[in-house]
Amino acid sequence: MDTLPSLTSADPDTRALLAARPALRMNAVDGLLFEGVPLNAIADALGTPTWVMGAGTLRIRVGRLRAAIAASGLPIAIHYAMKANDHLAVLRVLAREGVGADIVSGGELARARAAGIDARHIVFSGVGKSDDELRAALVAGVAQINVESAEELDQLSAIAAGMGVTARVTLRVNPDVDAGTHAKITTGLADNKFGVAWGDAAALYARAAGLPGIEPVGFSTHIGSQILTPAPFRAAYARVADLVRIVRAQGHAVSTVDCGGGLGIAYRDETEGSPEAFIGAIGAELGALDVRLAIEPGRWIAGPAGVLLTSVILRKAPGEGTALPFLVTDAAMNDLARPSLYEAWHGIVPLSPRVALGPLEQAHVVGPVCESGDTFARDRALPIIERGDRLAVLDTGAYGAVMSSTYNARPLAAQAMVDDGRWATIRARQPVEALWDAERQPDWLA
Ligand SMILES: *Cc1c(COP(=O)(O)O)cnc(C)c1O
Repeated sequence: MDTLPSLTSADPDTRALLAARPALRMNAVDGLLFEGVPLNAIADALGTPTWVMGAGTLRIRVGRLRAAIAASGLPIAIHYAMKANDHLAVLRVLAREGVGADIVSGGELARARAAGIDARHIVFSGVGKSDDELRAALVAGVAQINVESAEELDQLSAIAAGMGVTARVTLRVNPDVDAGTHAKITTGLADNKFGVAWGDAAALYARAAGLPGIEPVGFSTHIGSQILTPAPFRAAYARVADLVRIVRAQGHAVSTVDCGGGLGIAYRDETEGSPEAFIGAIGAELGALDVRLAIEPGRWIAGPAGVLLTSVILRKAPGEGTALPFLVTDAAMNDLARPSLYEAWHGIVPLSPRVALGPLEQAHVVGPVCESGDTFARDRALPIIERGDRLAVLDTGAYGAVMSSTYNARPLAAQAMVDDGRWATIRARQPVEALWDAERQPDWLA
């Protein structure tokens, strides 16, 4: 890669993107490798767009979290927030590493169970859970239900008491802390929809202790996503620690604090969130409270473990009034929604070393969907890319495939997993007929 020219743009160039991602390597013959597997071989076999997950990267990420936890000496369980990527193969890899699951729906409960995750390692979060979802969680025997309101506490009490069981409950506290992240992924401000207001939490905990079918075991919090510094975590955990001391002083038992997720990753040139600093914030504020602790990372585990392969359908020359070419890809916002939803920046690397090593230009990278928001990159400094060239969109392992839709009648993309030099298809490309398989005609139109 030493012969790659340097970009003049502030964007990290191909060399910098690959240097920061040891799972990716450019090979002079085979092109871009992910965990040692040529991505061209996967694209040849499955076509594009195709998601590729790296099992080795998932294990390395969990290992780094575990090492930080071990160094802290604290009893901290990892419950992977499976909404980040709920593929059964991903869950299976993580379950074998001893990781539990944080779920937010009955569907995720069923998926976690299908992947073989023990209900005792599942916690149930979410601002609104239906009666059926709560019942299913109680039948399964999940470890804990994170309750987000007084109303939900009453709902759960009625259901659990009716079933003759006791639900272990944490109250999700909204600490009113600004996570300093994108408005659509911040969750710990007082006027966000999530959790119980800090000022109401102690009284509600006391009330929970008297409700049939409810055993309050502690508190949970989750202040947002893509958080890169420990300060917001520390501020939130300080507020939770105060609550623990307050309710204990009132005579109530507290055995558990669930510290949520939100640790961020490096998409562009940020310094990724540090597990040591995250665990350090937990230890500093909660470590002396003698409680069982848990974290719920999603993005930090899965994000860097995935790439999206796409092909350039055409190169549209700049017209009058525009300066830059549009590279139109066969992946679109229906596949990867993050750029259109959050203006997210994702690295883009050609699979071919010839292209990756070639001269540079500025270009826009867009999908074919009929929305201007269907844009993966604007004014991006990239090697000169022609029709037919393949690209990898980096760090798409979290909030990627799970957020896909079939908008514009675009079937769901194929998925593959690489693991120790092997690869396998883990989801066939959706056949176009499947888009209307479940549709029915009213008999007057038949
Ligand atoms: C989304 C979510 C997480 C995971 O967030 P990440 O930013 O992916 O780590 C954890 N806990 C709860 C309650 C969530 O809603």
